Amino acid sequence: MPLPKAELHVHIEGTLEPELALALAARNGVELPYADTEELRKAYQFSDLQSFLHLYYELMAGLRTERDFEELADAYLARAAAQGVRHAEIFFDPQAHLARGVEMGTVVEGLWRALGRSEAAHGVSTQLIMCFLRDESAESAMRTLDAAKPYLDRIVGVGLDSAEVGHPPGKFREVYEAAAALGLRRVAHAGEEGPPAYISEALDVLGAERIDHGLSCMKDPALVERLVRERVPLTVCPLSNVRLRAVDILAQHPLPAMLDAGLLCTVNSDDPAYFGGYVDDNFHAVHETLGLSHERLRELARNSFLASFLEHDEERRARYLAEVEAYTFE
Ligand SMILES: [Zn+2]
Repeated sequence: MPLPKAELHVHIEGTLEPELALALAARNGVELPYADTEELRKAYQFSDLQSFLHLYYELMAGLRTERDFEELADAYLARAAAQGVRHAEIFFDPQAHLARGVEMGTVVEGLWRALGRSEAAHGVSTQLIMCFLRDESAESAMRTLDAAKPYLDRIVGVGLDSAEVGHPPGKFREVYEAAAALGLRRVAHAGEEGPPAYISEALDVLGAERIDHGLSCMKDPALVERLVRERVPLTVCPLSNVRLRAVDILAQHPLPAMLDAGLLCTVNSDDPAYFGGYVDDNFHAVHETLGLSHERLRELARNSFLASFLEHDEERRARYLAEVEAYTFE
């Protein structure tokens, strides 16, 4: 049995495996340039960010109906459960779907069909975080927040993702203020490929409560000191960082140094269908390649529940934390 953990950084669109991608495309009459699963699986071995994004958007075209989104989320939750995930806070990218003529309601209600029964079906509690694409305009983000208003009982917070460099967090100040006024929690990708200043800006200007990735903080000792002092959680995604070249090889990943510095790090999968592994695969990789001890892995799992948005259910958080402490490594 894998170590119990929460997953706080996973894009549901990034969990689309080749088999389901082909099945959805066929069902919806979407033409894809791949003869079979074998050929498509080869395309998943992309070489850089651009080829990843190309494939990511190409396959997304198969997601059209509530049932499609339901099947996508259900497949992720089944895999997550097998990886020891007890609680998942799942990102989705509505702008990528709205741009294709798929309505907000189709996306949210479709995902919710799977999330709503996830505890009974998979033993995984869930929350949904709506992300804005940072390479789109601030106005588009605001329109997206407006479109989500009928579904706010299904959404716990907002996030910011996609290509980071050249798109500083401050561009989204107003939409984050509006989200906060609606009672939504706030997270943001920062410091994956962008500079440490983007992390400070996400905290100061957007009011981010968690930083997704956050790797580049290690270039700024004063920022590290602040993140430690303020107990700001960082959702680190080691295998993703290697595939997208934020680090050259896993053996050079800063996670051990980040933990030694006292940062509240968690380990997550990001876009697991594309980046070579789900969350427990990431735990195995940092154990084997970075030499993180079992007690370090337990700390990462503990952090994942401490960093999760479970304030409405502290009893549940305490139960999950007790499971982490009671876990025996094989
Ligand atoms: Zn991400």
